[in-house]
This record gives sequence, C-alpha cells and structure tokens, in this order.
Amino acid sequence: MRTLTGIQPSGSLHIGNYFGAIKPALTAQADGDCFFFIADYHSMTSLSDGPRRRANTREAALDWLACGIDPARSVFWKQSDVPEVCELMWILGTLAPMGLLERAHSYKDKVARGLSASFGLFAYPVLMAADILLFDAERVPVGKDQKQHVEMTRDLAIKFNQAYGQTFTIPEHEERYGVATVPGLDGQKMSKSYGNTLEIFGEEKALRQKIMSIVMDSRSREEPKSDAEKNTAIQLLRLVAPEDVATDCEARLRAGGLGYGDLKKVLFEHYWEFFAPFRQKRAELAADPAYVDGVLADGAARAREVASGVLQRVRQAAGLSR
Ligand code: ATP
Ligand code: MG
Repeated sequence: MRTLTGIQPSGSLHIGNYFGAIKPALTAQADGDCFFFIADYHSMTSLSDGPRRRANTREAALDWLACGIDPARSVFWKQSDVPEVCELMWILGTLAPMGLLERAHSYKDKVARGLSASFGLFAYPVLMAADILLFDAERVPVGKDQKQHVEMTRDLAIKFNQAYGQTFTIPEHEERYGVATVPGLDGQKMSKSYGNTLEIFGEEKALRQKIMSIVMDSRSREEPKSDAEKNTAIQLLRLVAPEDVATDCEARLRAGGLGYGDLKKVLFEHYWEFFAPFRQKRAELAADPAYVDGVLADGAARAREVASGVLQRVRQAAGLSR
C-alpha cells in the first residue's frame, strides 16, 4: 500500500499539521511504502517571498524529519525538485470542470479570509491531484480541509482513465488515524496562513503566551453538553495529555472548580512535554547543516524515478509521446 502526503512551507509546522497529516502518515510508515513532500509550489499561492520560502522549506523538512520520517524507508523530497508534476497538472486541468473547482471549500475559505484569488489558488486542487496521481498513491492521509481535494483527485483520475484508458491508480482518502480538524487559537481551523497556530517547535515563552491567549467560548459553562466541541483548550488538551487528565479537567471546568487560566496552564505543561522528544531529535538533526540537503537531494532522485515512469504512461495514453 503506497501512502503519500505533503505539507506547504507557508509557515512553521503546527499541531494541526501534526495530528491531521504527519502522525497518520508516520503510522503508515511502519507498514508500507511512503512518499512525503514539502509542497513549495503550493506555498506560492499564499507566500510571495523567495528567501522566506527557501528558509521555510528547510525548517519544514527539519520539523518533519524530527517528527519521525525515516529517510531510509520513505521517499522525502521537495515538490519543485520533480517539476514533472506541472506537466501532469496541465494534463489533468484539461479535464477539470470549472464547476468542480468553483465548489472547492478550501479556495472559498481562503478567499473569504482575504487571500487574493489567483489562478494558482483556484487551480490548487488540480496541482494536488497531480501530486497524488504522479506517484500512484493509494492512501492520502490529510486533514478534513483537504478531503474534498482528494475526492476531486479521484474524479480526475477516473475521468482520465475513461477518456484515455486505464492509467491512474485511484487513491483513497485516509481518515483512519487522523484528527479531522484541529482548532486554532481563535477556535477556527488552525492554519499557517491564518496566524492562529501553535507551532510544534515554537519557543517556550511564545508558546505559553499563545496558549494563554486561546479564545474561550464563554457560553461553554452555560451549555455544558457542548463544552468539548466549543472549548478549544479542552480539545487541544485531549490531543496532548493522557485521557484521564483531559476528562478530569473537563469535569472540573463544568463544576466551576477550574478556571480558564489554570486550564491553559495545564494545557501548556502537557503540550511542552508531549513534543519534548521531538525537540531533542530536531536539535540533533540541526547540528549537521548538510543533513537536510542530503536527504532532500536523495529523495528528489528517488521521487523523480517513479514520477517519470508514471508520466511516460500518461503521455503514451494521451497521445503525447511519439
Ligand atoms: P495554509 O494555511 O498555508 O493552507 P495549513 O496550515 O492549512 O497551511 P497545509 O500545508 O495546507 O497547512 O496542510 C498540510 C496538511 O495538514 C494537510 O493534510 C492538511 O489537511 C493538514 N492540516 C492543516 N491544518 C489542519 C488542522 N487544523 N487540522 C487537521 N489537519 C490540518
Ligand atoms: Mg492548508
């Protein structure tokens, strides 16, 4: 079973990325063939600063490796090192109905949040379909926000296969292990481009301040039944603390025996402890500045080999090859 997932270097990786995509992908690494990439072409839809992209890409690679990617088992590369994906995007784009793209939630959310509506942002799901289909991926662990894009990928693959003959593997959206949507500091989906994130590798003081600034829904005391859904701090605590700690805090909060400030302090402690081994691994990896470049260069060569085989198949089917 081949697993593939990507993360944009549009900012520092956060716990939404971790619980939505990284953790389930790493679970897959234990028993399968894995392809992980840093989606730097995608990040151009929200970030137009070259030096920052270059720095973010490096940081994202270190973050992800520190979380547990094993480059000896998995293929790990940066998207733009395999530019074949752009050719496949064009090919798939010719089959992507406008109506389908216009219904994309992610596009609509980002435009509603003030991102400029470029062709690139609109075409994002087609590039994502190319990312997935170029590697014959079978399962794609992503957060809920990307589920619709995986469905679009399936539609495009089926359409291509119908038009040109059996060419693509149809991927599954993988939701067995992932957390659908991790809320951000403001209670909305945590997103790099929304500035509401808790970074996996943030500084202690800044993270503490961020956690203390989490927006709490004052209604959650009056409507105890909906506490867990509305209370961002409790939802985050459930991710990083043992279950009994979260359950106990929730019960005390409802009974009025735990204030929001104290709840946030408990959250910070568990958060900091949960990621401690990852921080240690990251420090070790960062000590060798050539390490990340070496891993990505090796990954690019391995990814390109698979990609060129699939693209050849596509060109053949579409009548593009001689
Ligand atoms: P951007 O704001 O630039 O879109 P992002 O924070 O949404 O960045 P992406 O790089 O777009 O992060 O997404 C990488 C992966 O992390 C995707 O699989 C996505 O579904 C997942 N993901 C992102 N945010 C969350 C979240 N809040 N909860 C669960 N999964 C998430
Ligand atoms: Mg996103």
